[in-house]
Parts: sequence; structure tokens; C-alpha cells
Amino acid sequence: MNRDLLATRRDFLATAAAGFAAASCAPAAVAQPSADRALIAITLDLEMARNFPRREDVHWDYEKGNLNAEAKAYAVEAGRRVKAAGGVIHYFAVGQLFEQEDVRWLERLAADGHPIGNHTYDHVYLLATRPDEVQFRFKRAPWLIEGKTPAEAIRDNVRLGAAAMKSRLGIAPAGFRAPGGFAGGLRDRPDVRRMLLNEGYTWVSTMYPAHKPASPGEPPDDVLADIVRAQPAAQPFVYPDGLIEVPMSPISDIGAFRTGQWPLESFLRAVRLGVDWAIENRAVYDLLSHPSCLYVVDPEFRTIDLICELVRKAGDRAAIVGLDALATRARR
Ligand SMILES: [Zn+2]
Repeated sequence: MNRDLLATRRDFLATAAAGFAAASCAPAAVAQPSADRALIAITLDLEMARNFPRREDVHWDYEKGNLNAEAKAYAVEAGRRVKAAGGVIHYFAVGQLFEQEDVRWLERLAADGHPIGNHTYDHVYLLATRPDEVQFRFKRAPWLIEGKTPAEAIRDNVRLGAAAMKSRLGIAPAGFRAPGGFAGGLRDRPDVRRMLLNEGYTWVSTMYPAHKPASPGEPPDDVLADIVRAQPAAQPFVYPDGLIEVPMSPISDIGAFRTGQWPLESFLRAVRLGVDWAIENRAVYDLLSHPSCLYVVDPEFRTIDLICELVRKAGDRAAIVGLDALATRARR
């Protein structure tokens, strides 16, 4: 029985992958913002986050895609605000999300022009080399990836994420965002880059540059200064095999509010410093955030509104765009 199920799942994956490859052959119309503009991206990873809404919550590790009503409502309202400001939000969805009964809110976000990328099906650790490292869910239920190497389990999880989106929304993913984020991106993992290229991705967002870690309480000036220092390391670049990396810009909401337990004002300060740096240097800034975290710590959308306001004030020196536009800035 188990084997039959596995075989069926593999057939499904092969068919789904073929469909996705065909869909991604269509030439994408990518807007080319002028080179003297800063490109600011607001990304929301659509997943539930451990320690939210309550510090003691850890069950989300096993049901990353079971978004609650608050997180969905936040994602929708954030999209409305950014669209009204003339931009888009780049969402990344875990595939599990598409098991929910109602995905019309996501359909509407896509119809409004917001790109939605793949965040794997179960939020797997791309660099895993042992089966029990792939994801909490598979540590508890190893039979779900039985017979697969970690690399195969990860590849299938990337495919399933794309297949789920294709099936429920009728669209191919707009790029790929790695769960977690790695200080070196995929520099030392040509095998993972090859897998992602084979799955049809021309750019990925896997790098989160190292910076002085946040510690609980208000951040001292040297931590904020180090976050600004890390911005040049968060600029898009091309790996030797042609895959484009679009890094995440520190500090993420999770870094600030889970690790740092910062007050909101401190996070707003860090975001303002990063966006200001990008505008000043006509560079890119890629905010990594999660509606499942922000609805708890920033219910009034102050982070989103702050970025819209900074970009508005910058006039033609900055624009809020999706990560595909940031990818066009990649330097070899
Ligand atoms: Zn994630």
C-alpha cells in the first residue's frame, strides 16, 4: 500500500514537473526599471511561524502552510496598501497552503499583479544531507520520504510546491525563496543550484548575509550599524552556472521579533536605515517578512507604510517592485 502510494506520488511529480517546465518556457515580460533607481522589494513569506502568535507556539513547525485567518487577512491588506502606493508585494507560498479549502484570496492577489513564488511544499532545509534534517514533519513522520535520499526529498518538495500552485491557481511560481536563508547563499552547493535550474528557476532568493545577531531588548547602535554594513552583501549576483541570487536584506522580522524580541520602533528604525541606504546608493533592498509574525507585532502595517512612504518621498530615485526586477540588476 505504502509503495503504491509512493509510486502514485512519483508519477504525479513527474507529470507536474513536465507541466511546470512547459509553462515556464513562455517568455516573461520583465519591466526594466532604469539603472539609476533604487529597487525596493517587500516580500511576505506565506507560512506560519513558530513562537507566534504566542511565544510557546511550536506546532507550526509541523503545519507550516495552515495559515490562520489573521495571517491571511494581513497578507491581503498589505497587498492592497502596496498596490495603492503603486507597487507590488512579492509573496512566497509554501505548497501546504494549497491544501486549504479557500485560496480565492491568493487568486485575487495574483490577479492584482502581485507575484507569488515557490517556498517549497513543506518548508524544507535545502542544504540537508541527512533525512532527519529535511523538515520537522519528516523527522516525526519519516515514512513520508522513505526510500528517498535527502536530495531527492528536497527536489520533490520543490516540485510539489510548484505543482500545488499550478493546480490551485493555474500559474507557475514567480521564482524561488529558500526556507531559512544562508549566509553564503548557494555558493558552496552547485548541486542544489543545478537542481533549481533543472526545475526551471532562473533566479532564487537563498542568501541572508551575516550580521551581528539581535539580542533581546532594544538593539544597541553597533547592531544597527552592522545591519547597514551588511546591505552591500545583499545585492543580487550571478553564480558561475548562471543562476541569479537575489539575497534577503537584513534584518528580517523573525530576526528582530523572535531572536531579538525587539520593540516595533527598533525594527522600523532598522528598515528605514536599510531602505535609506539602498535609495542613497541606487541599490536594492529586499525586505523579508511574514504576515504570521507581523499581524502580531505590527497590526497597524507600520512597516509596510513606512517603506511606501520612503519610496514615495524618493520620487523617481526609487520604486517598489518584485524580485524579478531585482534579478535584472545582478552582477557577475
Ligand atoms: Zn519561510
